[in-house]
Amino acid sequence: MLTVAKFGGTSVADFDAMVRCANIVKDRADIRVVVVSASAGVTNHLVTLSQQILPVPEQQSILGKIANIQYAISDCLPDKDEANVEIDAIIEQLAQLVTEQNTLQTAKTADAILSCGEQMSSRLFARVLRQIECQGAYFDIGNVMTTNSLYGKAVVDTQALAVNCQQLLTPQLQDVVTVTQGFIGRDSMGNTTTLGRGGSDYSAALIAEAINADDLQIWTDVVGIFTTDPRIAKSARAIDEISFGEAAEMATFGAKILHPATLIPAIRSSIPVFVGSSREPQAGGTRIMETVSSKPTYRSIALRRQQTLVTVKSPAMLHASGFLAKVFAILASHELSVDLITTSEISVALTFDNPPGSTQAGITQKVVEELEQLCDVRVENNLSLIAVIGNGLLRSQGVGTQVFDTIPQANVRMICHGASDNNLCFLVPEHEGEHVVQTLHDNLFV
Ligand code: ADP
Ligand code: ASP
Ligand code: MG
Repeated sequence: MLTVAKFGGTSVADFDAMVRCANIVKDRADIRVVVVSASAGVTNHLVTLSQQILPVPEQQSILGKIANIQYAISDCLPDKDEANVEIDAIIEQLAQLVTEQNTLQTAKTADAILSCGEQMSSRLFARVLRQIECQGAYFDIGNVMTTNSLYGKAVVDTQALAVNCQQLLTPQLQDVVTVTQGFIGRDSMGNTTTLGRGGSDYSAALIAEAINADDLQIWTDVVGIFTTDPRIAKSARAIDEISFGEAAEMATFGAKILHPATLIPAIRSSIPVFVGSSREPQAGGTRIMETVSSKPTYRSIALRRQQTLVTVKSPAMLHASGFLAKVFAILASHELSVDLITTSEISVALTFDNPPGSTQAGITQKVVEELEQLCDVRVENNLSLIAVIGNGLLRSQGVGTQVFDTIPQANVRMICHGASDNNLCFLVPEHEGEHVVQTLHDNLFV
């Protein structure tokens, strides 16, 4: 049995959290690869440093905050002097990168900055493992995670990853627990890349696939996947078992518990996934599998904030062909992916995930200007996408009524239902989002 375990930001936030995770690894001999995120809060600080040119004192203050998070961990280690030297070197390198970014402002340097969090947490975690007498060895994921050079949202070459893992990772699986970084890759020029926010889940799934693991464990701060985000609805409850398809829909439509791409390698290679809490490993969790015994009509509700709705309108679209192709060509040239789409005779409405602080492409003024060469363009922000996820949603009678009769006050801006049997999606103004989810959850799930 070969398991890859991933520990998220809160699970490696401080020394005690790291010790809890290390004990999970020590207790389970099948965990041979550990993938860690940056300690909680660090990546957000790094995003600020990489995206904004701040006055030097402010930069120093943020660097200080990052250093404090990491030194609070290294200072608890018996080999703290050596650990501090490692952290010093990365903080120093980070300070240089930030200075460089002040003048250069490149996506390449931004990725080098963003990678520093995982570089520090993985080094510290390997030491914590050794401290509890579990043979952990730090491993630089850049040596195997080959990507293209799309900084901020790099695409992994899965074939190269498999070959690299065979050569560099598989031979050491027997001897040591390999501790490595999520979120980071390396391009053909040797530059550091990142896979997009929350990408450590995806990294872990890709590594599990590349080393033919039997199991992927995602250890986080909740005891599994819930019927909706437990931070939004108190009545949310953990789901014991969920199918790959349903969980993938949840991840796609914003359930933060899993990065949207996580399940792609798992589904492709039939690797079951477990989601549980590193704080309460004994509390069980959710198993995500190919087939599950129950197929409820309503499985969960996901909320994704900060959506942008772009409506393109052109009389030329009437009875014309090729208009949509031109619109999509512009979007594709900016690496933008559309989530929901509805059309009328002369207009098309499209939604985009557009959160601020994202390392990925968004709807920029340039995109709007290019679209305006073709048609009228209207951009609306501050919307939330709500996805009701389940089974047989196209076939079950009364789904639309059950959903929308429950939320008569909601100002529903757009509805998408018809393409998938597993979801019904709609947009509401951002300030209504949480309340709509709570009301829906209380009616459909309790
Ligand atoms: P990590 O740092 O471990 O990757 P994240 O913060 O990315 O953790 O994801 C865990 C969070 O996802 C939870 O704290 C919870 O608020 C949120 N979440 C959103 N939707 C769900 C859901 N359906 N079930 C469980 N957690 C959810
Ligand atoms: N540290 C990265 C982030 O915060 C990746 C991850 O945690 O999955 O986005
Ligand atoms: Mg996450």
